[in-house]
Amino acid sequence: MQQTRQRHRVVLLPLPLQGHINPMLQLANILHSHGFSITIILHTSFPSPNPSNYPHFTFLSFPDGLSQSEASTTDLLSLILLLNLRCINPFRDCLVKLSRLVLRTGGVSSYAAFAAFPTLFEKGYFPVQDSRLEEPISELPPLRVKDLPVIKTSNFDSYYQFLTDMVRQNKASSGLIFNSFEELEQPALATLCPDFHIPIFPIGPFHRYFPASSSSLLTHDETSIPWLKTQAPKSVLYVSIGSIAAMDEKEFLEAAWGLANSKQPFLWVVRPGSVRGRKWLESLPNGFIEMLGGRGHIVNWAPQQDVLAHPAVGAFWTHNGWNSTLESICEGVPMICMPRFTDQLVNARYVSHVWGVGVQLENGLERGDIERAIRGLMVEKEGKEIRERMLHLKEKVNLCVMQGGSSHESLQRLISHISSF
Ligand code: UDP
Repeated sequence: MQQTRQRHRVVLLPLPLQGHINPMLQLANILHSHGFSITIILHTSFPSPNPSNYPHFTFLSFPDGLSQSEASTTDLLSLILLLNLRCINPFRDCLVKLSRLVLRTGGVSSYAAFAAFPTLFEKGYFPVQDSRLEEPISELPPLRVKDLPVIKTSNFDSYYQFLTDMVRQNKASSGLIFNSFEELEQPALATLCPDFHIPIFPIGPFHRYFPASSSSLLTHDETSIPWLKTQAPKSVLYVSIGSIAAMDEKEFLEAAWGLANSKQPFLWVVRPGSVRGRKWLESLPNGFIEMLGGRGHIVNWAPQQDVLAHPAVGAFWTHNGWNSTLESICEGVPMICMPRFTDQLVNARYVSHVWGVGVQLENGLERGDIERAIRGLMVEKEGKEIRERMLHLKEKVNLCVMQGGSSHESLQRLISHISSF
């Protein structure tokens, strides 16, 4: 029968002296035989027992900061005082490392861009200057300056500080979990590895294990799926800018006319409050909805994963939040990208220029551009390759979560890692 009692972990830090190490390891064996998990922390400047003699224990070491002559002193009192003094910070870091796994809810590629902030800062890319927006960033191809994951703020220093602190703390954790999969973001994973001396677990897409609809903070509109059922296969454009992004009234009207003029059916999520200064749809011209003749359906909030999985949906006009991007990839739905800030900018660039499964609206929102992007992607020949690449990528998602697939293997590694604590 599987043991259901939670195993408690005991962390042991012996003084780096034989007479302390021996009894500490014996105590460790005794506790282990009573069902405890054991972690032994060792000092790096001193000889230590061979971990391979204790495969049932986890060993960690921390830099105690003693020089060789300090470590070999025979003055026991001064050695202990020195150890106490020098070990406070590294030991605390080591404990932090012991206990903390970090879940990154964004993609690996955008995270790699965050991790590169200090380098980019040194090279003068920050704060971003309007005159340099189109410049390619040789350190992070194919990103351009305008794809860097920034937000509009008058206090760039705080943003920079926040991000660099975050990455530093992440590096001190005992592992990073990503809601992504290796086949999608292998180059970014490879960039991170030399710099991050902790295990990285790309185990996504999570919603392949459990759908997220039950954790929705807003109530799903119940008319979306019945409406989709009345539409032809792959004919509908699904439109959403997620839970945070907003647009101004002018952008909203350009979007509305672009949708109407494209002549494609659309399901549009307009979150109440997402048009700045307006409650919901009151900016739409009189008679706009009637003019669509049932070709457009506008809702507050949709059951997005079910919508993207519906056979009637042929494309997704998205702000490229990571969840939306991944959900679209999972269902093989090509994207029209309209990133607003931070990691969305990187995700959109990857969708359009690395994975080649979407097109980006590059020059703001203008009804003619929108109409052309919709028809180009969904109807015209020019979108065919993009649509095919997306189906190919979808197959990779299906494989990665199956037995032997990359995410499945990463999940097994993660489980062993957690079990070793
Ligand atoms: N979502 C939804 N209904 C909607 C719009 C979005 O259920 O009408 C869900 C979507 O499936 C995704 C999440 O909200 O899981 C949005 O996350 P994302 O990272 O894409 O964007 P954010 O809202 O954080 O900007």
